[in-house]
Amino acid sequence: MYVRLSGRIRINAASLNAQGTVGNLLEITKLRILVKRDESYEPVEVSAVSGNTMKHWHFVHFIDQYLQNGGNDLCDDCKRGVAFRTRFKKGNDEANYIKECAAEDVHGFLMPDTQVRRESLVKFSFLLPVEELFEHPIDTITHNRVIIDEGGKIEGQAGMMIFKRQYASDIYGFSFLADLADIGLRLYSADKRPIYDSDERKRRAKSAILAFIPMLSGLLGANISRSLPALQVEELLVAYSRDPLPLTTHGFFKNYVEETMHTIGGYCKLIKSKAKILIYGAKISEELIKECKEEIDIESYLTWQEIFKEIVEEVDKVEW
Ligand SMILES: [Zn+2]
Repeated sequence: MYVRLSGRIRINAASLNAQGTVGNLLEITKLRILVKRDESYEPVEVSAVSGNTMKHWHFVHFIDQYLQNGGNDLCDDCKRGVAFRTRFKKGNDEANYIKECAAEDVHGFLMPDTQVRRESLVKFSFLLPVEELFEHPIDTITHNRVIIDEGGKIEGQAGMMIFKRQYASDIYGFSFLADLADIGLRLYSADKRPIYDSDERKRRAKSAILAFIPMLSGLLGANISRSLPALQVEELLVAYSRDPLPLTTHGFFKNYVEETMHTIGGYCKLIKSKAKILIYGAKISEELIKECKEEIDIESYLTWQEIFKEIVEEVDKVEW
């Protein structure tokens, strides 16, 4: 089963990615992206959350879900939520590593001593502000840390530390993927027999999907103990198929739903395959639905959480 996810989330007062300090200012991660205005493309500076951050948080939630679902196969690092991936030396067969650690299996690893590697089965784009917004607010807020002595007195100038931190509010698009079908299989070998039993493959696949729920509920990014993001999923599109699928278009683009329909519909037509698209918060035109009706089965949902319920049920139905 191959799963692709795109969508848009609204985040207020977020400092999800910081990139070090300038003096006493903690700067938010910013980069320039190309936005189309009329007939030209303009570089615009925006706040962003890196794919690295998104991958890290999926990893954290994956470990939680896997343990909650009765999983036992994790290396000591992953059990602690530390994503070394990997320090255990298990020879030069990829199979030894993925059998012993579910996180090495799903999130990939590199063992430089034996030169064995595995690509991640889950992949994450940056969160980028959507293209049709003209303003991307970033504000700086002053915080204070105070140290007091035993009598309750602030210890001179050093006892008071003023620092500033930047916060952004925006609608961010994203695109993620999860190649669940490769769980428990060697990636770089012609031998594609599963390395362990089907119940364990199913458990890992289910945990990989469930991990998206806490992530999209707002448990992601840096500095969350003092600024949990005020976040809401505005739109979600999930495509899945038993055959490999191209990527769904990044939610940054205003036509990402139409583009995704054309890409997946066109691709499935060529390889004579079928896909299902589950959608929340966004609309698909009747013409497009008709155009792709042989290849894509579309279902609209009233909540984004129900989409994950359907995917998890599908994971149960698939033969592993
Ligand atoms: Zn591990």
